[in-house]
Amino acid sequence: MGVIENRFGPNIIVTTVDKAINWARKCSLWPLGFGLACCAIEMISTGASRYDLARFGMEVFRASPRQADLMIIAGTVTKKIAPRLRLLYEQMPEKKYVVAMGGCAIAGGPFYDSYSVVKRVDLIVPVDVYIPGCAPRPEALLHGLLKLREKIDRETIARKGN
Ligand code: SF4
Repeated sequence: MGVIENRFGPNIIVTTVDKAINWARKCSLWPLGFGLACCAIEMISTGASRYDLARFGMEVFRASPRQADLMIIAGTVTKKIAPRLRLLYEQMPEKKYVVAMGGCAIAGGPFYDSYSVVKRVDLIVPVDVYIPGCAPRPEALLHGLLKLREKIDRETIARKGN
């Protein structure tokens, strides 16, 4: 006992596996780099220096869905793009998250009665966080992403947060 006394004290942290995994996951969300319409400009602005998405470990927009675990749907979802959107979602590894940004993605926005626009993107992919607005400002996107981090904090290995 005397041999290990005080030897590991400064180096030991006691936590649960869930907390450790959730912490790593929420601090390194990598968004898929794509945008569908004007909301994407606000998303790009959020990633730039003024709003500094890098504070939350989210600045690494990935060009491949296989390296991304966050899909930000920023813009109008047309019926033509919807199957590609679903394909990209399916190519992302688990666990993955979806944020619907703006009125268009949530409910068709100004184009809700158009023949070519999907009325709700949650008919195509499951959505974790909705951010209303036309277009939502970067502050709103940041708020939504922080809500997503809170949701991840409530996850366990067995189930997603809600
Ligand atoms: S919600 Fe408004 S700003 Fe966003 S894509 Fe639709 S029309 Fe453009």
